[in-house]
Amino acid sequence: MSTDTFHGWACPGKDQPLEWKELPLKAFDDDSVEMNVTHCGICGSDIHTMDSGWGPTDYPCVVGHEIVGLCTRVGKNVTNVKVGDRIGVGAQSGACLECDNCKGGDENICERKMIGTYNSRWPNGDKSFGGYADKWRGHYRFVFKVPDAMSNEVAATFFCAGVTTYAPLKRANVKPGDKVGVIGIGGLGHFAVQWAKAMGAKVVALSHSDRKRDDAKALGCEDTIVTSDKEAMKAQQGTFTHIICTNAANNFDWPLFLGLLKANGHFIMVALPETPLNGIPAGMLIMRQVTLSGSLIGSPRVIQEMLEFAAEHNVKPWLNKYSMKDCPEAVQAMRDGKARYRIILEN
Ligand SMILES: [Zn+2]
Ligand SMILES: [Zn+2]
Repeated sequence: MSTDTFHGWACPGKDQPLEWKELPLKAFDDDSVEMNVTHCGICGSDIHTMDSGWGPTDYPCVVGHEIVGLCTRVGKNVTNVKVGDRIGVGAQSGACLECDNCKGGDENICERKMIGTYNSRWPNGDKSFGGYADKWRGHYRFVFKVPDAMSNEVAATFFCAGVTTYAPLKRANVKPGDKVGVIGIGGLGHFAVQWAKAMGAKVVALSHSDRKRDDAKALGCEDTIVTSDKEAMKAQQGTFTHIICTNAANNFDWPLFLGLLKANGHFIMVALPETPLNGIPAGMLIMRQVTLSGSLIGSPRVIQEMLEFAAEHNVKPWLNKYSMKDCPEAVQAMRDGKARYRIILEN
């Protein structure tokens, strides 16, 4: 029988060490699904949230939103998963399900009530808690069965890093003959390279150093361009159909990167720096009809599609595994930029 509490690595406040702590699960209702967490990825969002980088965090906060585990209990409205299934959940755990976006299958951009997997509140006021934990409980509409061909540890990081990069590349119609630049070969970027390649495009890593050249090649890149190399960057001007930016410093050099795009090219922003973007030259958007867009995770429909596409094309994360009990060290490794390319916690 399940209890109404769980244990997780709680962040008690900004700049405070994580504590293993007992906390309440959300109230169980007819729409609820509960799981014993086996794996949880560490996402950059977890760090921003623990640090109150995107605004004040509602502490104590248990982060983690690439969660996979074994389903242990379902409410009576739940039809998509059953007890004993291997299941996963990503960054979103709820939405109003009534607004135009929700009804149109874009629940990830719900206009009224986006419930984050952590640092958010359920409609009854209960706090949402993430997967640096032994158990998770949430709404069935945002829970997915893990494909039979995929292990739990492989599946977990698709639920945020995977879909965050799959969704916009798919939406921007990446196809054979295209040339896609990936800024930042990291947790998101290493998925972006694999997706674009599987969609048939040529892929080039745009990296601030040469350190990841071999990895980029192994992931599917034709080349790595070191972005501080002025000559190399100049030779690439006007050659890309798409650039996806997974890593933007606060002083991001817009003219440098927008100049890489062909006419009617797409610049897709999935990085979320803690300060506003500035210095975007409108002329460079206008003269070549460049589309500058953002993208937020993916809707349940897109997550399902992505899982099938990944299984079909053998897209897989590169993982560094840590025991859940070593979570503070794993978080520090993420802060230190040591992930190659996604750190995953294992219970
Ligand atoms: Zn994330
Ligand atoms: Zn909605």
